[in-house]
Amino acid sequence: MASEQEEIARFPSVLHPRDLAEAWTFKRLFDTEAIYVAGGTLLRTQWESGVATMPRQVIDLSSIPGLTGIAADEDAIAIGALTTLGECRNDPLLIEHYPMLVEAFKSIAAHSIRNSATIGGNIASRVGDCLPALIACRAEFEWCTGLSQLRESASEWVERLHVQSPKPSNLLTRIFLPFMNQNRTAPVKFGAYHKVGRREAFTPSVVTVAMSGSLKPDGAIKEVVIAAGGGQTIPQRMHAAEKALKGRLPDRELLIEVHGHVEKQFVPKTDPLVSDAYRRKTAANLVAAALWREFVREEGEGYGAKQID
Ligand SMILES: Cc1cc2nc3c(=O)[nH]c(=O)nc-3n(C[C@H](O)[C@H](O)[C@H](O)COP(=O)(O)OP(=O)(O)OC[C@H]3O[C@@H](n4cnc5c(N)ncnc54)[C@H](O)[C@@H]3O)c2cc1C
Repeated sequence: MASEQEEIARFPSVLHPRDLAEAWTFKRLFDTEAIYVAGGTLLRTQWESGVATMPRQVIDLSSIPGLTGIAADEDAIAIGALTTLGECRNDPLLIEHYPMLVEAFKSIAAHSIRNSATIGGNIASRVGDCLPALIACRAEFEWCTGLSQLRESASEWVERLHVQSPKPSNLLTRIFLPFMNQNRTAPVKFGAYHKVGRREAFTPSVVTVAMSGSLKPDGAIKEVVIAAGGGQTIPQRMHAAEKALKGRLPDRELLIEVHGHVEKQFVPKTDPLVSDAYRRKTAANLVAAALWREFVREEGEGYGAKQID
């Protein structure tokens, strides 16, 4: 005879909310007995591998209208949380204004998965590979919290995750990527995204690093955001490295200093295959190498920024 868990796995009850309020109410009502499902790509692997057990109710977010698509107004690009990573990867607005983010989408899984996997699911997993890039791009997340909405920066959200768990009923609705002015200029002038896995492609991350910033007229760094994550690590801002870079023109000595800050500040999760020491060093190497490529002239003489225009 099948166990209770086997019965649930075979016959979970699928709820199809008509709107956000209904989805949120279902989650509040059934609590740990229910879970939001977007593309289901992560949840399916967790259920199949036994990392998580399938709850009695699954709340199908795809039934809610208005949660997909990418559009821009004069302030920002808005991405619906149920937009697939495949759509994000090919979107002309994102390719034009946020190429670094597109690099991150390209690095996640393969086409077949990206055609079902959503950006919202990647974010809500807390360890998705696009999160460091979203932090570096100054993204903001909009959540349905019942009767009201909460909008906060990706950076604030992950920093809060390190100290407290978010309310499980909060439902991610949209992701905003800001424009700096009415000419729709993204607030970054240089940027880089790097993911290191245990093989070249189609691989889970060991370390992901994203960085972006703007420059002063003399080419010195005006401000920069650096985020590191990968594996099961919730991304972290590299505040000490950012502070060291602010107002300065990177040179060899500064890169060595920044390398030291990242190696010291990054606290990754370890696992039997990859140690935390390796992840720390890799993150530091990736950040220093990205700065080197960005600020050291190609012919190797002198220093100056190559700007993204
Ligand atoms: C073969 C394979 C390879 C993969 N490779 C990668 C990889 O390289 N990098 C990577 O980052 N991931 C990878 N993944 C994991 C996964 O595909 C992605 O993280 C994906 O973006 C998750 O999106 P989803 O819509 O499928 O999420 P789901 O599986 O539906 O949900 C994931 C989590 O998010 C919650 N959730 C979903 N949407 C919302 C929402 N709008 N509001 C609140 N909570 C929500 C769910 O309750 C669940 O806890 C891979 C998965 C597979 C199967």
